[in-house]
Order: sequence, then C-alpha cells, then structure tokens
Amino acid sequence: MTIQSVRTYYVDARKTLTKSFVFCRIQADDGTVGWGEAYAIPRRERGIAEFIKGLGAMAMTLTDASPQNFRANVQGWYDEGHLSIDLSSAASAIEVALWDILGKQSGKPVCELLGDVVNRLLTLYANMDPMTDHGQSMDRLAQRCAAITQLGFEAVKIYPMEYQPLEQAVECVRRVRAAIGDDTRLLLDAWALPDAAFAVEAARAFKPFNPFWFEEPVAGERIDAMAEVRSQIALPVVTGERQAGLHHFRAVLEKGAADILNPDIVGVGGLLEMLEIARLAESYGAKVAPHCWNSTTVAVAAMAHACAVMPNALIGEYFPDYEPFCGRFGILEFDLSGGKATVGETPGLGVRMDEDALAGHEI
Ligand SMILES: [Mg+2]
Repeated sequence: MTIQSVRTYYVDARKTLTKSFVFCRIQADDGTVGWGEAYAIPRRERGIAEFIKGLGAMAMTLTDASPQNFRANVQGWYDEGHLSIDLSSAASAIEVALWDILGKQSGKPVCELLGDVVNRLLTLYANMDPMTDHGQSMDRLAQRCAAITQLGFEAVKIYPMEYQPLEQAVECVRRVRAAIGDDTRLLLDAWALPDAAFAVEAARAFKPFNPFWFEEPVAGERIDAMAEVRSQIALPVVTGERQAGLHHFRAVLEKGAADILNPDIVGVGGLLEMLEIARLAESYGAKVAPHCWNSTTVAVAAMAHACAVMPNALIGEYFPDYEPFCGRFGILEFDLSGGKATVGETPGLGVRMDEDALAGHEI
C-alpha cells in the first residue's frame, strides 16, 4: 500500500470547549481512506499540523506504507533522537490513520490486526474537566459528578487541588464522594504539584475518601520524586500523560514510581508504541489507563482498539462534555454508552468522519 494524499484539519473549538482538535485524513493508492488524530495541546495545533504535513510527505515516499514501516523509516528518521510530545502526537495521527486503512482493506477491526483480542469492552471514566466550568463551586462540581453517574459512568475524575488551601481540596473530595456514593470510582488528579512533601500530605488527607488513584502527584519527568511519593502513600500512583518514548516509561517502572501508566493514546507515538509500553508495564505488574484529552471520535476509537489487546488495560479517559461538539464531525460505529466502549466488527477503527463538516477546517 502506498499513500496518495495526506490532509490535515484543525477544528478550533476554543469558543465552546477547553481544547481544539487536529485530525488527519490519509488516502491510500486504492482509494481507501483512514483517519487519524493528534493529541493537540492548546495553542500548538498549527505546529502539530505542520509536523503531520512533514511526516506525511515522507510517508508518501514509502513503497509499503504500513504502520510498522512508517514507524521504522519515517518517525525515527524525522525525530533524529530529539523526541518531543508534539512530534510524537503528529506521528500518532498518521500511524493511527494507517491502521484504519489496513483494517478497512482487510475487512477487520483494528484490534484484530494489533494482536490477540482479550477484551472488547473498555470501561471509561468521565473527566469532569474543571476548565469546562471554570471557577465552579464544589457543590456544582459534586452535582455534575452525580449527574454523570446517572448516565452510567462508574468512575469520575476530578482535580481537587483547584480548591485551596488543602482543607478546601479535602472538602471538595468529601462532597464529591458524598454525591457519587461509595460504589463509583473516584479518580484524583493532582496535576503535578511542585512540592513532593505536600503531595504526600494531600494524598494522606484524601485517603479516607477511598480514591481509586492519585494522578501526577508531581511532574512526570521527576521520576525519583514520584517514586518517593509513591513509597509514602497508600494510593495507586498514575503518571505518563506528558511523556513519550519507551525509555521514559521503562525508567518509571524500574524506579517503582508508578502503579499505573497513562500515556496519551494519540500523543505517545501511535498504537505500536502504546502496546510496547503496555507490554513493558505488564512485565512490572503495572496497569495502563490511556490518557485521552482528545475528541470523542478518532482518538477514543483508537483507545478502545488498543485496550482490546492489552491484558493490563485498566480504564480509559473520556470527556462527556466534548461529545455534542465532536459529534458534528464524526461518529463512532461501535457502541459507546453508559461509560463503556465496546469495539465491534466494523473494519478499521469504526469511526465515520463527516468530510463535509470538516471541509472548512482543512489547513
Ligand atoms: Mg492528568
């Protein structure tokens, strides 16, 4: 298979949501179209789109544009050992689109091409994005969390450190726990605290409310500090959303810095990279819970397929608030409802993008 064209789209959602989206559309020589998405950190969308164009131009020179060849002969050459999350995000978009093409060409869902399918059902947690409702009161947050559990979500993630001082953060956790009941998993994201000792203090204060995990107690690159925090608290530690590269995740695992890794599904470099990280994590007894601060279309589909072949996939991230907006550009062709995604038999990723709706967003 060779690539005939690579198109990029920047869907600016800043007026509606807390982030925007970057997609790519790849057309193969037989006319098959595949879709990819890049993890686009706000204000970097156009830069990431440029990376996609550069990587795409090189990918078009491949005589066999398989995801493996793209990874070995384009991605590695392009980054020249200078890894950055934006470049790996752009590479993810292309790699995911190539998987979508391969699936459509072979008549199989992507998960069946990735390996042995172990679980088609992925439980999702609802990210209660604080920026969606910036400055919201604790009671408003608690109400939103309770409402989302009514839709079937069995896990919610909040950012208690938005409320200061620590007593207020603890009160936030208390109110949300009271609102969602004891059976809903409560995920806490500390969003990289600058002080490891304070992170330990906070984790201990939150512990009585039975959090499911404590995410990024300190910045992900501070592996020693992360390990130190983990050794002093009794909550599972999650890290990885801001990093790419197998060597980083190996160091995290070797130093015992985390219980759960959360590389971004379309930021880490592609599905092959995600699966390598998952295999590595498995050998250390660690779980993987993909980060997915992306649209509810291509990236979520990619996450569901990857997790279907990962025995240590724990849970996936989802932004219910993004669903109405993203639904204008694409829909999933498999079941995602009630906080669960179940990949079916649709060839490829099982996502149908609306080319007419996207036409005005091509860059
Ligand atoms: Mg996070």
